[in-house]
Parts: sequence; structure tokens; C-alpha cells
Amino acid sequence: MKALRLRPGKERSLLRRHPWVFDSAIAKGSGDAGETVRIESSEGQFLAWASTSPASKIRARAWSFVETQRIDAAFFHERVKKAVDARGLFDLQSDGVRLVHGEADGLPGLIVDRYGDTLVAQFLSAGVERWKPVLADALLAATGLSKLYERSDASGREREGLKPVTGWLRGEGDTAQVIREHAWRLSLDIATGHKTGFYLDQRDSRQRFAEMAQHRKFRRVLNCFCYTGGFTVAALAGLKAAGALEGAELTSIDSSLPALDRARANLALNGFEGANAQFLDADVNASLRRFIEEGRTFDAIVLDPPKFAPTVAHAERAARAYKDINRLGLKLLAPGGVLLTFSCSGGIGADLFHKIVASAGIDAGVDGYISERLGAAPDHPMTIEFPEGEYLKGLVVVRK
Ligand code: SAH
Repeated sequence: MKALRLRPGKERSLLRRHPWVFDSAIAKGSGDAGETVRIESSEGQFLAWASTSPASKIRARAWSFVETQRIDAAFFHERVKKAVDARGLFDLQSDGVRLVHGEADGLPGLIVDRYGDTLVAQFLSAGVERWKPVLADALLAATGLSKLYERSDASGREREGLKPVTGWLRGEGDTAQVIREHAWRLSLDIATGHKTGFYLDQRDSRQRFAEMAQHRKFRRVLNCFCYTGGFTVAALAGLKAAGALEGAELTSIDSSLPALDRARANLALNGFEGANAQFLDADVNASLRRFIEEGRTFDAIVLDPPKFAPTVAHAERAARAYKDINRLGLKLLAPGGVLLTFSCSGGIGADLFHKIVASAGIDAGVDGYISERLGAAPDHPMTIEFPEGEYLKGLVVVRK
């Protein structure tokens, strides 16, 4: 068995069970892509069994911190079953579920979502790439399903030196799916949609938005970065429950035309084709500036932008971008209106995001209070050992 020997002092994060080993921590040793190696301290003490990623700055990812653990097919079957079984502990109110969430489930680099009877997986590290056939078998065994589609076309693959791969890995079927989520249904396509097809992590924030719409009876709603219209459908469902659909105006913006087409289809799927809903194929920043010039205001605004800071290195530029859209969004808020603002950048922590939104409020000259913090749905768990797992954070700001 090959070993990676760390430099003095570099064992600390592994002793705390953080799963990553950076190239700069390694004194000597190497492994082939995805090979299991023994990680040891500068003094030769066992720290972890890990897979190596020779092309990446994250040179190794730990599978296990137990010296007697064998990293074999049985190990992966057990890990996958544990992850799948854990989702049964939550009442998720959806048949779209994240079954495996990478590091948080002890499977660094593996993402698996379930949409109805179909599984979609992303293999994003050399380690899970190497164990792909075993993991595919384990996923079918743990779920009792037969269809697994691969969407290994995320940008993280490049950093691992892996080429993009997509297509059916097990079984075959329709790539178009319809899932139920809370009180609505949403269609998606696992082959052409973003990530695995859909943003399951925002499920419960969409539900909170529906509840707010029902309670506050929003008249003018603005959903920025709407993708396939999830927050728009949620608002309409809330308004319908309140008997307040009539007279409500909904504006949804995204720069992806296929996403907007699906958003329109998703309104129809829920019987909202008659709603006063507008879909703009436009840049959010430019649209917000135009709305300010036109003197428009909104009772509810959602800002759910893409990842501006993929890593900590991008945090500063990303912070400016977040501040900019939040400043514009806050300006467009009517008194008493609510802003749901999110960051899914792992490089921007919850405290920093709070500061960014607060200073956007000062720049906008808008006084508000934060009434709630929002985060990823519980099938996207965070662990104590891996703080990077807390990527999605949201704030509800109410304008005074
Ligand atoms: N809120 C959505 C997910 C948003 S994902 C949901 O609940 O499903 C982010 C979206 O921002 C993507 O759909 C992407 O197409 C869009 N996007 C990225 N940059 C944009 C820009 N500058 N202007 C408008 N939309 C943008």
C-alpha cells in the first residue's frame, strides 16, 4: 500500500476528521488517480485512508480515519446505504431528494439526487471516479431502483483532471421528470438542466416563500435568477391558498432561455397559466437598474444568484457582486416588503454574507431588519468536521 507522508504540523486537520489533504501539506509520496493510499503524519503515525487526486490542489480525500477499515466494495455499499437510509429520517415533502451529499456523507466528490424513480449522480473526484461501478451498484442496491443517469459535467471535474461524462450508467428511461414538492409539482430534465437537473437545496426556502405569500398576500413579486420558476410557483401556490391570486403581478428573470421555457411550463403544470406572470430573458443586474429608473417597487423579491465565489480565493470580487445586487434589490423593495437573498458560494461564510447585505442596505439608504436565516434543506446535511459544507445561506430582510 502506498503512503503519503505529511509535513510536520500538517496532521492537525485530519486529526479533527477534516477529509481534505492539500498538496502543500505533503512531504513525500504519491498515488495514481483515485488510488487508495495511507496518509501518515511526519512521524509515520496513521491518520487516514484516502483516495489521491494527482491533478488537484486537494491532493487526497479521506475515506476513513480508522486504521483497520478496508476500503473495498463492502465499505462503499455500507456508506451509500447509510446515506440513503438517513434521508428516511426527514419528512422532506418531496420525491426529489438529495441522497448523497459528498463529504457530509463520507463520500467526497459524490453527489446523488433522486427524482421519482430515477437517480442522477455526479462523480467529481478521482476517488469516486475510480469506484464508479461499485458505487453505481451500491446506489441501486440501497434504493431498490434500476435507473441511474450520470451528470459528471460539473466544472470541478477539470480540477481533478477528469473529462466530462454524461449518459445512462444503469438502466435507461426518460430524462424528463416531474417531481412533487410541498404543494406543487415541478418538471425538469436530468440531461439538460443545471447540475443534476434541479436545485433541490432551495426546497424549504421555496416553501417559506409560499407561506409568506399566503400570509402577506404579495401584490408585486420579483423572482431574480428564477431558473425553472420554483420560487414563482411557490408564490402563486401561497397566493392561491389565500384566495389572493387576482391582481397579483409576478416578474421572473433569468439569462437562460431554456430555463424560462420550463418555468412557463411549470406554471401551467400547476394550473397557473392564467396568472399575470412575466418572464424576462435578461441580465438581473441590468434589469434591476432599469426597474429603479422606471420607479417600480415590489412587495417581495428573491435574489438567488449562481455561485459568485467558487473558492475562498474569489471571495473579494464576489463580495462586491453580492453587495451590488443586494443594494439594487433593497432599493426596489416597497416599505414592509420582503427580500429573500441567498449566497451559494462556499467561499462566503454566513457572517460575511450578513455583513455584505447589511452594508448594501446602508448604501441603498434602506432600513430593514433581518427576520429569518435560511439554509439548505435537511437532505443537504452539514457536518461538524467539514465547515465548507455550509455553502447555501439566505436572509429574509423586511424593509421598515
Ligand atoms: N432560484 C432557482 C435557482 C437559481 S440558480 C430555483 O429555485 O430553482 C441561478 C440561475 O441564475 C440560473 O438559472 C442561471 O441561468 C441564472 N443566471 C446566472 N447569471 C445570470 C444573470 N447575470 N442574469 C440573470 N440570470 C442569471
